[in-house]
Amino acid sequence: PPFSELGLPAELLAAVEKLGFERPSPIQALAIPPALAGKDIFGLSQTGSGKTAAFTLPMLARLDLDLNRTQAMILCPTRELANQVCEDVHRLGSALGKLHAVPVYGGAPMDRQLRALRAGAHVVVGTPGRVLDHLRRGSLDPNLIKTIILDEADRMLDMGFRDEMEELLAALPPERQALFFSATMNRGVKSLIESFGNDPEIIQI
Ligand code: AMP
Repeated sequence: PPFSELGLPAELLAAVEKLGFERPSPIQALAIPPALAGKDIFGLSQTGSGKTAAFTLPMLARLDLDLNRTQAMILCPTRELANQVCEDVHRLGSALGKLHAVPVYGGAPMDRQLRALRAGAHVVVGTPGRVLDHLRRGSLDPNLIKTIILDEADRMLDMGFRDEMEELLAALPPERQALFFSATMNRGVKSLIESFGNDPEIIQI
């Protein structure tokens, strides 16, 4: 199907068009409609599949930009990926209005991140250790988060972030939507999704 049949709001369709995306990739065509309907998703897909837009577009569709509070959290394995995803969030959300997405990762000065979070971040994109650090300090409020995204969940587990991911997931409101993405399926990924997913739709491409 074309993008216009996936159920996306007009502002997001305009952004997709502006980026020159002509047709949804398979993961986008399969993940976007159920994610827009509020379902949890487990997408098995590689880098290059278009997975970033597959989870970012439905997340953006649920944001209330008039509410200057954190409503979505995206966890990534590395600072490079966090920066890249944050950039994609801004690009795909460009037609929505004034959208604040803040990258938050270790090895970068804390004060600038604290200032950015204090100023209001609709979306926080970061590595599990530093995001958890902000949660514990109280600089990140989890209570209005309605979407949690795990990008490259298998890689985050390989890097030893299991405890941090679990603590973050457990701190979110129970009714939040979870979108899990992973290049591979293994016991670790499976147990994470069994513990924190709500009957996710499994999408394998
Ligand atoms: P990703 O797998 O999310 O890292 O995306 C890989 C690349 O494909 C990125 O450069 C995206 O901008 C691009 N891309 C994503 N979706 C589409 C699409 N539907 N049509 C064309 N390019 C796309």
